[in-house]
Amino acid sequence: MNSPENSSVDRVHAVLRDTFGFASFRPHQQQLVDGILQGKDVFGIMPTGGGKSLCYQLPAVVADGCAIVVSPLIALMKDQVDAALSNGIRAACANSSMSIDERTAAARAYGGGELDLLYVAPERLAADGVLERLRHCPTGAPAFFAIDEAHCLSEWGHDFRPDYLVLGKLRDAFPDVPIAAFTATATQKVASDIATRLQLRDPVRVRASFDRANLFYEVRAKRDWETQIVEFVRSRPGQSGIIYRTTRKSVEATAGLLNANGISARAYHAGLAASERSATQDAFIRDDSSIIVATIAFGMGIDKSDVRFVVHGDIPKNIESYYQETGRAGRDGEPSHCLLLYSPGDAVKIRRFCDDIVDDAERQRTLDLLREMERFASVPACRRKSILHYFEEDYTEENCGGCDYCAGEFAEVDATRDAQIVLSAIARSGERFGAVHICDIVTGAATAKIRQFGHDLLKTYGIGKGQPKAYWRSVLDALIAAGILKVSDDTYGVPKLTEEAWEVMRGQRKFARHEDTRTEREKTSSRRGAAAAVDDIAYHHGLFEHLRTKRKEIADAAGLPPYIVFADKTLRQMAAYMPTDNAQFSQLHGIGTHKLATYSKAFLEAIANYLQQHPEAARDRQRLTAATPPAATIKRPRGETYQITLDMLRQGLSIEAIAKARGVVMSTVEGHVAQLIESGEEINWKSIVPAETASLLRNLFEQHGSGALSPIIAAADGAASYGQARILRAVIAAESADES
Ligand code: ADP
Ligand code: MG
Repeated sequence: MNSPENSSVDRVHAVLRDTFGFASFRPHQQQLVDGILQGKDVFGIMPTGGGKSLCYQLPAVVADGCAIVVSPLIALMKDQVDAALSNGIRAACANSSMSIDERTAAARAYGGGELDLLYVAPERLAADGVLERLRHCPTGAPAFFAIDEAHCLSEWGHDFRPDYLVLGKLRDAFPDVPIAAFTATATQKVASDIATRLQLRDPVRVRASFDRANLFYEVRAKRDWETQIVEFVRSRPGQSGIIYRTTRKSVEATAGLLNANGISARAYHAGLAASERSATQDAFIRDDSSIIVATIAFGMGIDKSDVRFVVHGDIPKNIESYYQETGRAGRDGEPSHCLLLYSPGDAVKIRRFCDDIVDDAERQRTLDLLREMERFASVPACRRKSILHYFEEDYTEENCGGCDYCAGEFAEVDATRDAQIVLSAIARSGERFGAVHICDIVTGAATAKIRQFGHDLLKTYGIGKGQPKAYWRSVLDALIAAGILKVSDDTYGVPKLTEEAWEVMRGQRKFARHEDTRTEREKTSSRRGAAAAVDDIAYHHGLFEHLRTKRKEIADAAGLPPYIVFADKTLRQMAAYMPTDNAQFSQLHGIGTHKLATYSKAFLEAIANYLQQHPEAARDRQRLTAATPPAATIKRPRGETYQITLDMLRQGLSIEAIAKARGVVMSTVEGHVAQLIESGEEINWKSIVPAETASLLRNLFEQHGSGALSPIIAAADGAASYGQARILRAVIAAESADES
């Protein structure tokens, strides 16, 4: 017998499967869903693509009555309603873009108890008498309020909307109705602001990791941006992507460049007429135009889930913007690529704009954030770790496997002598000058400032002429990143020497920097990274394209964006499993009962037709096993660098010897080994991790779980290295995969 609680749990899972067509919850979703269904307030802070919509849509289906969802943008609202309707959820919206008749129809449906979800714009709630009418609605109070993009409530956030302030009245007007708040951007300050303004009552709080595991981050020196961008896009045919540029002029130039090279792309910036902008946005959402070149005016309010790449042609103004903009890639959880083209000169241009900021403190803050972004772009280090560090999240993986640095694109080289040159220029000029001036001294620039301070007389003046300024800047940046130089907190950000700096100068300490090992060719035609890993199942490409065309046809006829009809992942599964009946079809990702009823006939037919015309395709059919298709696993890219390590291992070289021969540290090689094991390679790890260490690690993993490595390392108390723990974790995972 089911207790009432159990049956509600069953109901939640049934709705997840039957309405949404998903096999399981994403991390944290269930906690939020359960909280709402228990009548509690909830507060979910989850990154873009984390799956926030489901957290309120699912309880809206399960609970009695209609949930009211507040969402800031009309375009977004329409998309969300379309997506809900396509899953058979009774949804409608009310906003100022609708005619009076349409709004009246929505109000009537609400009043008649015919809705599960009503999306409203905040300005609707603020309108005269609306809250009053809601309160006296004959069908009772709303089931709950969901506030999407809740950071719009906070003046500290990056997207404050005065309209949202009306939400502060909800609690008093509806003391018994739960409030659920969701946002993807919350510093502590914004988060507590949201909770206060909404008067949340002891909410179920969830703060998910901001790690976007399916995004591959890559930074490349911007040399010949025309070739770099054209080649990058060309190597990804058919994929949707956004290319960000800073100015309208460069947006136009880049779009023109792509079109001239036979790649259809549309431009988007604030200088275009509103009608043109919305047409472009629509074309992108509907897959009529897969590439958009835009200023940062583009993106907010776009839920297109299958954006496969985001390119930054210029440096963004801070890490937060970079994270938000790259975050528009891969909402569907599929591998996606983020490329930043970096040139120190671009930051100089932004810095000039900063001169217009009147408020001193504000200007300084803006400059500091830009400086941090520059460091992110110029210092070779795990990109993921740097981003998460910005959000005060500790990322403890030794190798993220999802950025250029961790993919082994950089080699460690000794740079002690060059470090000494930079440090000595700083010491001799009295630790009073900024990075630009220091590099001027080292390269022997003839500036007025150099003459004014007599720096052309210093011993280090011009000693580094043989290398460009950018090189010396990168050495200086690397010294800051390594903590050997500390930047002063005042407005000038002057590099200051630390004790370690003196040790380097005295030759008591070595300094290594990372050098980009990619050849020019590789750099411009990068097909590595996520792009290579998109296919998590082997599927028939011809059939996939055929189904894609079918999807576009059906979507256009229904006036829907294709990704709302089916995710790419669903199409790939169709092209892999080639279902022949409804029972098989219903097992695919994202197919609930409604989509099954609406689309299965058309797609089963399309598959059958294709197989009739291309009988050989049937050979590629994968077996559809168990009740659910395999969960998507992100296959990590396996570049050349892993192959080299593998070859050397096969030749019997030790980790130490490989590290030495390749000019990298041992932990890098150990990271390669772990990834090779994870990707199913047979490796004689017993010669790498001694039996004693291995059994200690096995015990520790048993006790602490095999998630984070840091507790294991701490408990091992010096008896095992990070690299060894990483390898053993891979071994354990591979063993348990073999057993199951
Ligand atoms: P957010 O609003 O947090 O940015 P969305 O709600 O738009 O994210 O969801 C992002 C994508 O993830 C959507 O394509 C959605 O269908 C998908 N998704 C959400 N929950 C799940 C789940 N439990 N299983 C599989 N896919 C999911
Ligand atoms: Mg959302």
